[in-house]
Amino acid sequence: MSNLQPARGTHDILPDEMRAHRRVVGIAGEVAERYGYEFMATPVFEFSQVFKRTLGDTSDIVTKEMYTFIDKGDDEITLRPENTAGVARCYISEGLAQKAPVRFFYAGPMFRFERPQKGRLRQFHQIGIENIGIAGAMADIEVIAAGARILDELGVADKTVLELNTLGDAESRDAYRAVLVEYLEKRIDELSKESRERLTRNPLRVLDSKDEGDRKVVAGAPVYSDYLNDASRAFFDEVREGLAALDISYRLNPRLVRGLDYYSHTAFEFTTEHLGSQGAVMAGGRYDGLIGMMGGTATPGVGWAAGIERLAMLCGEAPAARRPIAVVPVGDEAKMPALKLSEELRRAGYRVDLGHSGNLSKRMKRANKVNASAALIIGEDELARGAATLRDLDSGEQEEAALASLVDRLARFR
Ligand code: ATP
Ligand code: MG
Repeated sequence: MSNLQPARGTHDILPDEMRAHRRVVGIAGEVAERYGYEFMATPVFEFSQVFKRTLGDTSDIVTKEMYTFIDKGDDEITLRPENTAGVARCYISEGLAQKAPVRFFYAGPMFRFERPQKGRLRQFHQIGIENIGIAGAMADIEVIAAGARILDELGVADKTVLELNTLGDAESRDAYRAVLVEYLEKRIDELSKESRERLTRNPLRVLDSKDEGDRKVVAGAPVYSDYLNDASRAFFDEVREGLAALDISYRLNPRLVRGLDYYSHTAFEFTTEHLGSQGAVMAGGRYDGLIGMMGGTATPGVGWAAGIERLAMLCGEAPAARRPIAVVPVGDEAKMPALKLSEELRRAGYRVDLGHSGNLSKRMKRANKVNASAALIIGEDELARGAATLRDLDSGEQEEAALASLVDRLARFR
């Protein structure tokens, strides 16, 4: 029944992994809130134009990775491969300019047709933040600081490195693109087929090629920082000054580029060596060109996105589930009283696992299997006395407790 497998590149998130994901989203969302970023969500699918117009016809995402289809209303729809374009679309269509600047946090599934491997899925999940409406470097610093704090509070900061670069403004980029293309064209024979294509469509992308031959060529290429105009240089200096003031260390990586035209100035990535070849954990940058490119009033923005699966893997073992109290009725007479007691305990805030079948030893096995901290055994004798046997499943100690006093007696097992 191979068709009952999850589709290639997708997987079921069972409770252990789900707890790990929820911890990532919970901590990240709470930290983001402290920085003023509020939870929001855009739809999982959008008109394809939202992505095609913005990600450009040459990006890897648009050319190879999008899940696009015609729906029954003849609209061309794409499952979102990332969330920045959706948030920008929302900013325009919801008229959020009135509220600018806005700060958003999101978490949810993204879809890319990729070659699946560990840490690389076709349906994966991201958290991210977007800061829209602030042109100055303080926003870039804030966004990076929030990312760094999240990694710190997740306990993975020491497993990651912040890599930083600037893409400058449009003028600087045009100047650099011209010299880069000139340099690369002279060495076109040494470039991979992919990079030869990039050369005409999106030459900056050659800089982050993973191909060995490309890397050798790139090593000798002109360096972007030599072509930054004064304004771009000043912007980058302020970002660096802010990071220094906050004691956020980073490594300059002149090869770090976002391939998309709407990016400018700050580009950054938190990377790790703990996840094999999937080293990118959190990636972001400034996208001043995006909202204008979509047809809105030109509006600056900066943000990042991070893969939840990769973050959860970095965090290591999933947090333990909350331990329940096992309620164990013995005999038919005890069924209804056990049901009522369970309900009462749940109302009082306890997690309860109510045994449903089997004899006493089977139910006690079940109590151990669900890692219950205590068992409440209710048999005929106990019932007659209006009591239950309370067993501490860690120490094995047991005592009889009046049903009326149970909510309080259980307090130490909360
Ligand atoms: P990569 O270089 O690994 O392909 P990317 O540059 O495509 O990453 P972004 O588009 O910047 O990634 O997305 C931000 C983050 O989302 C990545 O740093 C990574 O943690 C996560 N991510 C991206 N693609 C996937 C995927 N297919 N499966 C799982 N996580 C992913
Ligand atoms: Mg990718």
